[in-house]
Amino acid sequence: MKSSMLTGNIRWMKSMNKSLILNAIRLHGPISRAEISKITHLTPPTVTNIVAELLETEIVVESDLGESTGGRKPILLEINVSVFGMVGVSAGVKRIKAVSANLDGKVRETVQLSVPPNASADQYLSILKKAVRQVVDLIQEAGVPLLGIGVGMHGLVNPDRGHFLFAPNLRLKNLPIRTALEEDFEVPVEVENEVRALAMGERWFGKGCRVKDFICVHVGTRVGAAVVLDGQLVHGPSFAAGEIGHTTVDIGGPLCSCGNFGCLETFTSVPSMVRRIQEKLEEGTKSVLQGRLSGKGEPSAGAKIVEAAEEGDTLAKDILAETGRYLGISLANLVNLLNPSTIIISGEVIRARGWMLDPLRREVKRRALSTPSGDVTIVPSELGEHAEEIGALTLVLKRLFEPRA
Ligand SMILES: [Zn+2]
Repeated sequence: MKSSMLTGNIRWMKSMNKSLILNAIRLHGPISRAEISKITHLTPPTVTNIVAELLETEIVVESDLGESTGGRKPILLEINVSVFGMVGVSAGVKRIKAVSANLDGKVRETVQLSVPPNASADQYLSILKKAVRQVVDLIQEAGVPLLGIGVGMHGLVNPDRGHFLFAPNLRLKNLPIRTALEEDFEVPVEVENEVRALAMGERWFGKGCRVKDFICVHVGTRVGAAVVLDGQLVHGPSFAAGEIGHTTVDIGGPLCSCGNFGCLETFTSVPSMVRRIQEKLEEGTKSVLQGRLSGKGEPSAGAKIVEAAEEGDTLAKDILAETGRYLGISLANLVNLLNPSTIIISGEVIRARGWMLDPLRREVKRRALSTPSGDVTIVPSELGEHAEEIGALTLVLKRLFEPRA
């Protein structure tokens, strides 16, 4: 399919009724036309007409026959997940990772490129395009038309314009990511902050798919959150809603990358865990981590701390528990403030389930009001190693499937 034709199709699919029907098939398929009519409150002739158009584009296919309730067995419809390819990108400070997937969100090809320190805007965009190009080439070799590209970007992002605005540790400002990628690839491009994108991945494929109000917290080199209320991401006028990492937990605490002192991030990010471990090692605490951690910017530091805890190392276990307690204090505040039904924690250190999550849950229970803390479920993400890229892909799916007024 030619890209201009594909863009035309996507525009066509975005009409309200088509999205309503597509979404009903996605959520409830295999499903009959009669059931779609019931769920969407569209008349049976409208459903029949739109389904005929959807069948023509091959995004919907007829599957097996359903159970008969007396008469002829109804023909069921489902989404043809392999009809389109998508690219999901996580664009970070040190690396850019791009993956390909079909409409089911299952990752197929992966490309990862490094970003040199102090990269210029042009350099950064050119690495981003190179990573996307490599994955797009693989999708096109397989003969599948490209539906769109989703980018989960570190820092503040304006998703309406597809612009990266600012990140304190990425000395770049105002990158026109959507414009740059749409020029080269001629498909719709969605851009969102990395944790906000992650939350969308959870909403479609993870622990957020059956709940309307949830918070996704990411613990890694940075600590951030995304708030989803009534199924919608909360952004705020400056697109900064959810920056939990920069809420103060200790007025006399260490200097943070944002310029404030004692932010949650300075106690719960992986570099902060490495810093506390190194302080303990210098004081003479015995640990298997002696010599294993090269510095606080090390990319695999989180995994090494978890590994040490699994080997029974007391220092590693203590640091994970302490991190869990700090996070728990902040999450207790969020529970009181927003009354979410679920909090999903993601990041490498969540592998340390018991060591970190148990103290975290205890702290929430102890500090939040009993009713909201009794109603909240705190769970680790299960989206796996490609969670961030799956979140980015979801931005494309959301555009196609979600009815927009
Ligand atoms: Zn801060």
